[in-house]
Amino acid sequence: MSRRPTVLLYDVDGTLLVTGGAGRRAMRRAFAEVVGHPDALEGIHLGGMTDRLILRHGLEIAGRPFEETVVQELIERYLQYLVDELPRSEGYRVIPGVLGSLDHVSTLENTAVGLGTGNVERGARAKLRHGALDERFAFGGFGCDAEDRTELLRRGAERGAAILGVPVDEVRVVIVGDTPRDVAAARELGAEIVAVATGAFDAGALREAGAERVFRRLDDAEALEALAG
Ligand SMILES: [Mg+2]
Repeated sequence: MSRRPTVLLYDVDGTLLVTGGAGRRAMRRAFAEVVGHPDALEGIHLGGMTDRLILRHGLEIAGRPFEETVVQELIERYLQYLVDELPRSEGYRVIPGVLGSLDHVSTLENTAVGLGTGNVERGARAKLRHGALDERFAFGGFGCDAEDRTELLRRGAERGAAILGVPVDEVRVVIVGDTPRDVAAARELGAEIVAVATGAFDAGALREAGAERVFRRLDDAEALEALAG
């Protein structure tokens, strides 16, 4: 029996890697330069937020309207600063268990392995490239697709289904993430969730958000089973 077509969508920050603050520092520099307000994101927990939602909050605090030209300028500056910040971020690391998980799912037939992240695609790719993970993911749903997390995951699912050559409503979609926002978006999409407590949230918080399966590492035997379905 052949495996049911499956699209896996991995979140980036807290799930695959941590940037050691490089992302936040780059965003801070962008806000300082574009709107003269480096502290616009002070005290905001960014976990699970899409880039556009982060910008919306920051602009609100800076007292500036959410205008597309300003948003695009902030994103461009952020991406420049991100490339600058990543190589000197001492806290950057690929999360333990990720490589084993990716090695495993790459062997599964009828399975498309992609990203489901609030990062704009160029930001996600920069973060992944620094850890040599970029080429593991051919496609994804990204923060440049939508401000709403469920919507960008839907785009990722559609792209994965297209790669598998089947209609999106026939694929099993699995969201892999580390925050209650990933869990909520997966549930709203009607997708499965494989939650991993490697980010800022512990297993209890993820279960409370509705995740039935929470793992310590993505290469735990049970986690690999959950991914494989
Ligand atoms: Mg995350």
